[in-house]
Amino acid sequence: MTDIVKLIDNAIRADVRAIGSYHVPDASGYVKLDSMENPYQLPEDLRAELGTRLAEAALNRYPVPSYDTLKTRICAKLGVPSGYDVLLGNGSDELITILATTVARQERENRRAVIMAPIPAFVMFSRSAQFAGADFVGVPLREDFSLDRQAMLAAIEEHKPSLVFLAYPNNPTGNLFDAGDMEAIITALGETGIAVVDEAYQPFAKVSFMERLPRFPNLIVMRTLSKLGLAGIRLGYMAGAAPLLAQFEKVRPPYNVNVLTQVAAEFALDHIEVLDRQADLLNEERTRLAAALAELPGVTVFPSAANFISLRVPDADRVCTHLHGAKVLIKNLSKMHKLLANCIRVTVSTPEENAQFLAALKAALT
Ligand SMILES: *Cc1c(COP(=O)(O)O)cnc(C)c1O
Repeated sequence: MTDIVKLIDNAIRADVRAIGSYHVPDASGYVKLDSMENPYQLPEDLRAELGTRLAEAALNRYPVPSYDTLKTRICAKLGVPSGYDVLLGNGSDELITILATTVARQERENRRAVIMAPIPAFVMFSRSAQFAGADFVGVPLREDFSLDRQAMLAAIEEHKPSLVFLAYPNNPTGNLFDAGDMEAIITALGETGIAVVDEAYQPFAKVSFMERLPRFPNLIVMRTLSKLGLAGIRLGYMAGAAPLLAQFEKVRPPYNVNVLTQVAAEFALDHIEVLDRQADLLNEERTRLAAALAELPGVTVFPSAANFISLRVPDADRVCTHLHGAKVLIKNLSKMHKLLANCIRVTVSTPEENAQFLAALKAALT
């Protein structure tokens, strides 16, 4: 009989054995405000039309791995500068993995590659670095969640990172970093490192580094359709100089975007104004929710340009337990980083769900 415990000890990496899985709580029966989903579906008539298109898709064939039609539509509809191409991923999570894998050279080539990000940051940045076999260096933000430009520049000088991730706006804090600080970092990386500006929340922030691509050959701008309202189809894209993308293209699994996603994304891009209108509604809701939260005693609301709000409460564990009991799922950020002590993050949703959250939070605070 094979002893499965021994097998795991022998065959599985120690660092993988040591960690837990990426935890996604069971959300059935809950108001789900923990993962920045758009609460709205496409309108009925569009969904019917999409159904027809999906039924026509050639499911018996592999996708055409160049994805030319979809890429052309992304470039045309989403502001990719002319002369720049995109690389597609099964969500931007996969793009982050591809980026990390491509730079993570083996130890025999002198030293391990370094991947850097200001922290607190999106967890996948450090996880992908670890799995790819690169060292992750996190540089703490300032107390107000702004970039510590001097600390970032000093860390770049010291560690010579191959890759620096900058989320714009940042998750889990929600704020936009100063564009001048970001440009200084991209410039400092120069010919030694690639800057990846992760614009997962660009549909809400409405600002972008996309138009700066021609100025910075070491810049990659990464986005996703997830937060805009298509989290279920899993499609991310990143734009950059062709010779750079060609390197990442070698690492991308050839059929990583499936035929159904391709059809659904092309359809959604033809009706992008519907999704943009939903994003505008959510932005209005964010303004209202932030104002209501700021009225609550003992609550600090942090500025957000995304479809979520981070806030500090007197006792985050107590608040989360109470909200959980009231069937409202949010994210407790307290354990992520000391800058986030007693912080929670809530996704902006419909007026009804936001009101439910607000009422449950008020009850939790008294
Ligand atoms: C949600 C999120 C992503 C992941 O998006 P997917 O395309 O759904 O994989 C990437 N970066 C940041 C900062 C995010 O918050």
